[in-house]
Amino acid sequence: MKALKTLAKRALTADAPYAALRARALRGKPVTLLTYHTLGADDEDFDAWTVLRRGDFLAQVERLRSDYDIVSLDDALSGTASNKLQAVLTFDDGHNGWHEHLLPIVEREALPVTLYVATGHVHSGVPYWFDAVVNAVQTAEPLTLDTGDAGLGRITLNTERGEANWLRISALLEAMKALQPAARDALAERIVAATVGHRRPRHDALTPLTVAQMRELARSRWVTIGSHSHGHQLLDRIGIDAARDSIAQSLALLAEWTGRVVTHFAYPNGNYNAELAAALPGLGLASAVTTNKGLWRRDGSRFELPRINVGRFDDAARWRLNLLG
Ligand SMILES: [Zn+2]
Repeated sequence: MKALKTLAKRALTADAPYAALRARALRGKPVTLLTYHTLGADDEDFDAWTVLRRGDFLAQVERLRSDYDIVSLDDALSGTASNKLQAVLTFDDGHNGWHEHLLPIVEREALPVTLYVATGHVHSGVPYWFDAVVNAVQTAEPLTLDTGDAGLGRITLNTERGEANWLRISALLEAMKALQPAARDALAERIVAATVGHRRPRHDALTPLTVAQMRELARSRWVTIGSHSHGHQLLDRIGIDAARDSIAQSLALLAEWTGRVVTHFAYPNGNYNAELAAALPGLGLASAVTTNKGLWRRDGSRFELPRINVGRFDDAARWRLNLLG
């Protein structure tokens, strides 16, 4: 099955069918928004789809620039003229890789980026539960977790490395998202406690930015700052008032830290509904990105902008195909 899929993908990316697919997907010059999370060092052995190697990111930027103008989100939304197709690079959450790896690239390459910051973990300096778990399970030896009361059974990680391992880690995260918050937090704490002293040397790629790093990022002329809520809650599940409060709190903190008025938003985990989207203009927001896969056509809603997710384990062929939405 896997071999068949690989074959099908190869056939699709072979030049003639790919060109036809591409011509159809890009008719009318839609805007391509890409979703990244953070960057890590090339030699850092970290199994998380959200941590792209710095060198892979640079190679993607170079390939993109042959076909696209990489523009700011404001330029893309305002329809600023461009002969080429337009692409917007977005990053979610707010990890220290933005400061260590991304900012030097942005400055050197004059590269516009939009950074959606979940302000809670930057403010507290404490990773959200899901980042704490991903950091914690980066152990040198295979790891067996007994999830006990949480009822997720015994989970074994790190017997293989790379994408196969990430699929197991992300299945654990998805199962944990379905737990009650108290049970989920207790399990996350147990996983963190169980792996202390067993982790590989660089196991902290998902550490939050500091406020000082945040300020420095915001001083770059190439950086647009957006909000990603305060607590990274699943906003369609906590009630509209709590969702509004979380967004308003993040907007206030971002204004205080950066001196900028923030008008762009990213739904945490891509969770939203019609009521939430309709509430955003009242909070001073002008756009919102989703995790819906696709390209943005100018007649589409500005509060449901589709994006294309990019991760550590996408090879060049998968990436090229994904770019078509
Ligand atoms: Zn996020």
